[in-house]
Amino acid sequence: FQRLQERLGKTRDSFVYQLDRLFLGKKEIDQELFEQLEELLITSDLGVGTTLDLLDIARKKVKREQLRDPQSLKSIIRDQILTYIEASEQPAELVMPEEGPFVIMVVGVNGVGKTTTIGKLAAKFIRSGQSVLLVAADTFRAAAINQLKIWGDRVGAEVTARSPGADPSSVVFDGLEYGVARAFDVIIIDTAGRLHTSVNLMAELKKIRRVIDKKMPGAPHEVMLVLDATTGQNGVSQAKLFHEAVGISGLALTKLDGTAKGGIIANVCREMKIPVRFIGIGEQMNDLRDFNAREFVDALFF
Ligand code: GDP
Repeated sequence: FQRLQERLGKTRDSFVYQLDRLFLGKKEIDQELFEQLEELLITSDLGVGTTLDLLDIARKKVKREQLRDPQSLKSIIRDQILTYIEASEQPAELVMPEEGPFVIMVVGVNGVGKTTTIGKLAAKFIRSGQSVLLVAADTFRAAAINQLKIWGDRVGAEVTARSPGADPSSVVFDGLEYGVARAFDVIIIDTAGRLHTSVNLMAELKKIRRVIDKKMPGAPHEVMLVLDATTGQNGVSQAKLFHEAVGISGLALTKLDGTAKGGIIANVCREMKIPVRFIGIGEQMNDLRDFNAREFVDALFF
């Protein structure tokens, strides 16, 4: 918990510190406080929609319960942020199938930390005694294939890959065949993320999804979108784009250690209703944490 708190330092320093300062200077809840709050919440990347919704809920509650103490408003804000983060309908933990390999398709824009997250995720499974196969279906960039191999070596996961330029769907097809034949527990598929040709990219991802489902009905069991917390509101539009194309079932939010924009998590959750599975709080192998909404909000606010 302490480590999480430490790593969320930037968001704490900007958002929560400023929040505290705002409240400390106040004896009563007044209109000015709401206005200052609005500005602070929007600049912390909570997003305009979520900010207005949050303040509307807070105003009503303050009025209904005739609250005056600014600290009670602060609690309302904290509780409501937690409600947003918990809003997804699915459980936050990954549910593994009873039989056969657990197939995870990982999507996301280049640079968000997709390969790193896959490596960390593989390490997590391996630590818990499961065998992991990584499938290098981002055949667009030679560097992506190499990066995945480096992570595979580092964490002890096997990697199936072909040369750059190979057809991604057939890499996936072969990967699944190999993974099933060798009875891997977990198969993680890395995909391309070149957003400058987003139409082609989405078509490619849809095709990969179809191939997986055809080869192994019911799979992928998880389509995980990796989002970079430092991109702020851009992350929400990315999420929508990928969700429309392939249907996202879980999120990994990276680089929370490097940003003051941790508020984005509440906005993404409220807008998408998709559970955050993991958060990235550093570049090392162990810097991927299972996401727990309450722990996260506590780490931010206390
Ligand atoms: P990809 O293009 O999406 O596969 O991105 P990479 O996995 O290559 O990551 C891009 C950069 O982000 C690398 O320098 C990673 O070390 C870094 N990175 C990934 N996750 C995190 C994180 O949680 N925290 C920090 N600080 N850096 C991260």
